[in-house]
Amino acid sequence: MNKDLRIQELEEKSKEKELRIAELLASNERLKSENENLKNEAHSFRELIHSSPSMITLLKGKNLVIQVANEPILKFWQKEKCILGKPLIEVHPDIRELGLEQLLHTVLESGEPQFGYEMPVYITRSDKRELSHFNFVYQPQKNRNGEVEGVAVIAQEVTPKAIYHEKIKNSEFRYRELIHSSNSLIAILKGEDMIVEIANQAIKDVWGKGDNVEGKPLFNVLPEMIGQGMPEIFDDVYKNGQPYIAQERPLLHQQNGSLKLGYFDFVYQPQKNISGEIEGVAIIAHDVTNQGLLNKKIRESEKKFRELVNFIPHKICTTTAEGEPVFYNNSWLNFTGKTSNELLKNSWYSLIYHEDREFIGELVESSMNTGQDIETELRIFNKDGIPKWHLARATAIKNEEGVINSWISSCTEIQKLKDDEKRKESFLKLVSHELKTPVTSIKGYIQLLQSILPEKVEADSRNIPVKPYLHRIESQIERLIRLISEMLDLSRIEQNELILELSDFQLNEQIETVIEDLSFSHREMQIDISHEEKISIKADKERIGQVITNLITNAVKYSPDTKKVSVRVFRTEDNQAAVSVKDYGIGIALQEQQQIFKRFYRVSGNKDETYEGFGIGLYLSNEIIEKHQGRILVKSEPGKGSEFTFKLPLNQ
Ligand code: ADP
Repeated sequence: MNKDLRIQELEEKSKEKELRIAELLASNERLKSENENLKNEAHSFRELIHSSPSMITLLKGKNLVIQVANEPILKFWQKEKCILGKPLIEVHPDIRELGLEQLLHTVLESGEPQFGYEMPVYITRSDKRELSHFNFVYQPQKNRNGEVEGVAVIAQEVTPKAIYHEKIKNSEFRYRELIHSSNSLIAILKGEDMIVEIANQAIKDVWGKGDNVEGKPLFNVLPEMIGQGMPEIFDDVYKNGQPYIAQERPLLHQQNGSLKLGYFDFVYQPQKNISGEIEGVAIIAHDVTNQGLLNKKIRESEKKFRELVNFIPHKICTTTAEGEPVFYNNSWLNFTGKTSNELLKNSWYSLIYHEDREFIGELVESSMNTGQDIETELRIFNKDGIPKWHLARATAIKNEEGVINSWISSCTEIQKLKDDEKRKESFLKLVSHELKTPVTSIKGYIQLLQSILPEKVEADSRNIPVKPYLHRIESQIERLIRLISEMLDLSRIEQNELILELSDFQLNEQIETVIEDLSFSHREMQIDISHEEKISIKADKERIGQVITNLITNAVKYSPDTKKVSVRVFRTEDNQAAVSVKDYGIGIALQEQQQIFKRFYRVSGNKDETYEGFGIGLYLSNEIIEKHQGRILVKSEPGKGSEFTFKLPLNQ
């Protein structure tokens, strides 16, 4: 029994042992596999460290002993594996200088990781010191109890990226510098709310809201812009990406509590990011308030000018420098019955009476070339197609450099004057005709009386000097006859009826005859005549005599102190017959010298009572000489005398 019990006991023990062995074996297997796993893990971990392109090292303890260092970090340090087990400071003494040793200790002490971003470090590569940039993490390494035992360093060189970032930073800096140093008003707005990202001083000054505008929505900074249509414009630029350009736009800015009007040229430019999406709007503006105010004044003054010009009865037209009309006033529209557009579209030539077109064309062309003012008479068609006489004037408007900018012309209707003048001329012609016959016969009778009456006659017991009286009457009658002839000539010229009766004669003889005739009526004159050449011409003898008479009588009349007159007959260098009449009288000012040949022109300042006349003589003389294809010239100096010379072509 006992034996059986024992056997049973032994068997049980043996089973127990087998069980334990089996358990041990199993646990051994487990440990083996765990060990294997750990080995695998450690291997993978090492593999991970060594195959990583990042620089990795594990530092242990306060001395920061290098436990692990992968290939990339060894390469960077330019060290071999033998450094393993050495403190980092021995291998890399410069970590102290760079402040990295301190940073590693901070990690050890605080258990907090530390990061570096694009940290600049000078390193020597192929004997060259180069600035490089690194991103790194210092990660605390804790044991199972959570105590920090070391630091894992994982670093990457990011030099190209850092250089790129540096470039971006520099360019951003320059961009900001440019904005801030610019005289233009510049602001950059971001997003739909138009947040002010950048605003330079120039624009801040105009906004008048102080310096702290960055970060605020534009229309919170400038609420006064809301009612001026600005939000809509910004919205449109932001949404549609189309820039908005404005010139001399008036804008009101609230400055120091009051609204101030300014004028601005500006562009609102959509701002896109690299992907082309609109991120905001840039404002680039110029304050053109002075110019704007000036232009406003100019516009106002132009408006006034137009109102004035439309009010007056004269026809006013402005043209370009080349003579192209740009404006006709109301008077033109009323007179022609055309609209402004019709007038501007059609050539102004069509408004002018056919017969006047050619000379007006020439006149305008020559003025366009020389810049000379125009003053002339011409006929313009009215709305019924009837030509009406006008006095036209045009003057060039020049800029400060004297360059012609435009022309302004005025046409004043003088048809009534012309009609009156015509009536007057017909009347004068009639009167002159009617007077000529009786006056001529009076002269005949006086000459007859002179020849038959004695020097003195007894009447009422007085001795009357009849002959001197008759002589005086004769000279007055002479004047009258001359005046009547001049009047007749005047109307002949007006009506183009002055006909020359040409004959061959000796100029010298004709002059002698004229002087002889004159010496009866002008006993006081002292004529000194010089025939430098004997000249025969073909001309109207009477008319040439009339010119010489006129020049000599003028010479005497306008020389109150000396009656000396020098007459010269000569041939010019260009082979023309010439007669000059020189006096030593009052002379004629330069600006009057061309005017005196105009009809009825008399130099003002000459006292009418001292020098009687009508201003017809020189006009007639000039017409006569021009009809002979010749010219009259005058040389004169006030106070010294005048010299009139007429020249006639010899080969007529
Ligand atoms: P008038 O009848 O007035 O003399 P003219 O046509 O002969 O008319 O002359 C025009 C103007 O020219 C004169 O009024 C005078 O002012 C000026 N004039 C003409 N001849 C002379 C002269 N020899 N000396 C100075 N002035 C002259």
